Amino acid sequence: MKVIEAKIVVLGSQGVGKTSLVVRYIGKMFSKHISPTIGASFFTCNISVGDTRVKLQVWDTAGQERFRSMAPMYYRNANAALLVFDITSVASFNAIKGWVKELQSNVPEEMVMSVVGNKCDLHECRAVPYSEATAYAASIGAAYCETSALHDQNIEQVFLNTATSLLTLSATNSTMKSYDSADDERNNGSPTEHSDVTAKVELPSYNTSDGVAYGELQRNMCC
Ligand code: GDP
Ligand code: MG
Repeated sequence: MKVIEAKIVVLGSQGVGKTSLVVRYIGKMFSKHISPTIGASFFTCNISVGDTRVKLQVWDTAGQERFRSMAPMYYRNANAALLVFDITSVASFNAIKGWVKELQSNVPEEMVMSVVGNKCDLHECRAVPYSEATAYAASIGAAYCETSALHDQNIEQVFLNTATSLLTLSATNSTMKSYDSADDERNNGSPTEHSDVTAKVELPSYNTSDGVAYGELQRNMCC
C-alpha cells in the first residue's frame, strides 16, 4: 500500500472551536483510546483513500492567538490548513483572511486549504452568510464546509476531504513524503486493509518524541 505523510495545521481566532473540532474528531471514533495527552498540540491519524494511506499529522494551534509570533512554527512545513471561523462572528471570518495572506506569503509549497464555518448549530445567530463564505473559499481555491463540534456535524467530512485533496496534491508536490507501506515498520504486523468506501479512519497514535518544538508548544499552552 502506498503511504503519504502530511501535516495539517488548524488556524483561526481564539474561541471559534478549533480544539473542539479536533477533540471531537478523535473522540468520536476513538473514545476508548483517548489518551490523557489529548491536550497535546498534535496527533497523527491514518486515513485510507482508495489504495493509499494518508498519514495525517494534525496540529491544533492552542495559544497562537496570543502568541502570534509563534505561528510560523505551527504552519512551517504544513501541507494543508483548516481555516476555522465561527459563523456567528464576522470578526472571526475576517481573521481567516489574514491567516490566508500569511500562509500565501510564508509557505512556498502548494497547500490544501479548507475553510470551515464552525458552530453551524447556532444558525439563528448567523452573521456570515453561507454564500459569502463559499465565494471567499472559492476565491482562494479552498473547499467550504460548515460544521458543528457541539452536534458532531460534518467534522469527519472535513478531514476526509482534506486527505483526498492531499492525495491529489502529492502527485505533483515533491516535498510530501511518500513511500510504500512495506517500508513502514510501524505498520508491520497489522492486517491488510480493505477499503470499499472512499475513505476510512484508523486509530491515532500520539507522538511525544518531537523534541524542542513540542516542548515550546506545551509550555505556551494556557487555555
Ligand atoms: P478554540 O479556542 O478555537 O480552540 O475554541 P474551543 O474549541 O476552545 O471552543 C471555544 C468555545 O466554543 C467553547 O466554549 C466550546 O464549547 C464552544 N464551541 C466549540 N464548537 C462549538 C460548536 O460547534 N457549537 C457551539 N454552539 N459551540 C461550540
Ligand atoms: Mg483551542
